[in-house]
Amino acid sequence: MIETELPAPFFFADDPALDFLDSIAAPRDTEIEWIGNGGDFLTWLEQAELVPTNVVKRFRASTPPAQLDEIAAQARQLREWFRKFIAKHAGRPLQPSALARLEPINMLLAADQSFHQIEATGAGSLGWRQERRWDAPQSLLLPIAEAMGDLACRADFSHVKNCEGPSCTMWFHDVTKNHTRRWCDMAVCGNRAKAALHRAKRQSTGAKRGEK
Ligand SMILES: [Zn+2]
Repeated sequence: MIETELPAPFFFADDPALDFLDSIAAPRDTEIEWIGNGGDFLTWLEQAELVPTNVVKRFRASTPPAQLDEIAAQARQLREWFRKFIAKHAGRPLQPSALARLEPINMLLAADQSFHQIEATGAGSLGWRQERRWDAPQSLLLPIAEAMGDLACRADFSHVKNCEGPSCTMWFHDVTKNHTRRWCDMAVCGNRAKAALHRAKRQSTGAKRGEK
């Protein structure tokens, strides 16, 4: 398994399914693929807190790298399929007629082996903890499929947005009070837009001066 040195991935979508779409991006013009192979995919899943660390360790130690690479390829396929779905439906409430197009998620989740356990919450009460039998590498796709389904069932798609950065591909769920969020991240695209505006202003003042 090739372990590559990657910068920290982005988790600013305010939704795990959209964070997953942002696992390929070009924040500084060069494209970065965070799930390019099985090892990187496991790292991303762990960082996204979608798969527990001990489960990630077990898969890393006991699964043939080629098998993990194959799952990463399936994950990339799932991601690009979902990107098209989001691009088509973002910006307005999701209609029940979209269900037919969500069938691949239902098919994945039909193989899920998740279950609930009662636990002490630490706040002096009892609560549910969701567990999953992670018996095959294929199960690594389940938390992602679940997050996608969750977004479709619970989110108002009116607030699912693409960053306004001209070449930015990143998606996020705008959970701000007035739904005025425009950027994937201020440090990535927000500041770039501000600098461009500043440059444009300076140029137009320069041009005006030149006219005199
Ligand atoms: Zn952006």
